[in-house]
Amino acid sequence: MITTLHTEWTVADICQGFVYNEYEGKGLFGLSGKLVIQPEYQRNYIYADGKKDVAVVQSLLNEYPLGLIYFVKVSEDKYEVLDGQQRITSFGRFVTGKFAIPGANGVPQYFSGLAEDLRERILSAKLTIYVCEGEESEIKAWFKTINIAGVPLNEQELSNAIHSGPFVTKAKEEFSNSQNANVQKWSAYIAGDVLRQDFLRTALKWVSRGDIDGYMSRHRYDDNINELRAYFSSVIDWISSIFEETSKYMRGLEWGELYEKYHRQAYDSKAVSQKVRELMVDEAVNDYKGVYEYVLGGCQDTRLLNIRLFDDRTKKRVYLKQTEQAKAKRISNCPLCVMADGADKSRIWKEGEMDADHVSAWSRGGATDEANCQMLCKTHNRVKGNR
Ligand SMILES: [Zn+2]
Repeated sequence: MITTLHTEWTVADICQGFVYNEYEGKGLFGLSGKLVIQPEYQRNYIYADGKKDVAVVQSLLNEYPLGLIYFVKVSEDKYEVLDGQQRITSFGRFVTGKFAIPGANGVPQYFSGLAEDLRERILSAKLTIYVCEGEESEIKAWFKTINIAGVPLNEQELSNAIHSGPFVTKAKEEFSNSQNANVQKWSAYIAGDVLRQDFLRTALKWVSRGDIDGYMSRHRYDDNINELRAYFSSVIDWISSIFEETSKYMRGLEWGELYEKYHRQAYDSKAVSQKVRELMVDEAVNDYKGVYEYVLGGCQDTRLLNIRLFDDRTKKRVYLKQTEQAKAKRISNCPLCVMADGADKSRIWKEGEMDADHVSAWSRGGATDEANCQMLCKTHNRVKGNR
């Protein structure tokens, strides 16, 4: 790989013919058409938050260096941005009037409204640009190792770079496009940021059963994403057909795994949704995220709900009462030890050797109160298990 340092290009040069695609949220071209700002392996523009993009402009106004920028030379007089796309898109958008910076007294200032010397200061700022020439694989391997100023690439952005090709391009159009009308619906079930590839990653994780890079590698040169799209829709449709309501606790659950495990079972969505509503207001339930799997599994595994346990005062009172009665009858203070009729049938356990148990299981309507609490020795409590 050969690198050549360029210090002669200015912000004005790069902004010649700057095109920003509002729909896809990316800067496309600059340098009089000679520069591709967002090659397919690049991430979406994520600086448009009123902070990072403003910081880029402020740096130029303060005459601070913007840091190193890397271009790849793809042919004679044609370049792609390897690193620096966020910074270039920020000043390109500012110079073309796409956003304002906060001026004195908080009045928004667009580029066209700046004093002439300030406009000139921005346009004449010289950039430090390395132009790299080499094999695609060589450049991408290097791209993986350089740390992008500010926001490092996340896992999926790296995977997109490594497996770049028609499949990634199509997959990003569908799953990392904030203008896609379905994103709203999907975000009820999927956590994260569509522009940072969290939805794409989820879709790939589901269809690949977790082998994301393997899947991307096998499908790298596919000219369609039919399987990815179909599987993803099946999961989403399955969730929305079973659960009538959405809640914030649904977001980011392992829906792909739940789908694989339960989608062959029939559910009555009315009854399921009713059960979810009840559990969501049940004071004994501590883990609302576990409610969905608990219900899908037929309300068996109460561990998923992290059921609230008896408090220490209740346990102490029950322990003292139980132990006093046991001593009077010369039997064990663990009722199950008495029933087992073994060596421990008259053993008095210490408080620390016992655990609280629901006499009538919580899952069958038993309350978490003193009247429904009994102390069992640790062995028997573990054997009885269910709450
Ligand atoms: Zn016992």
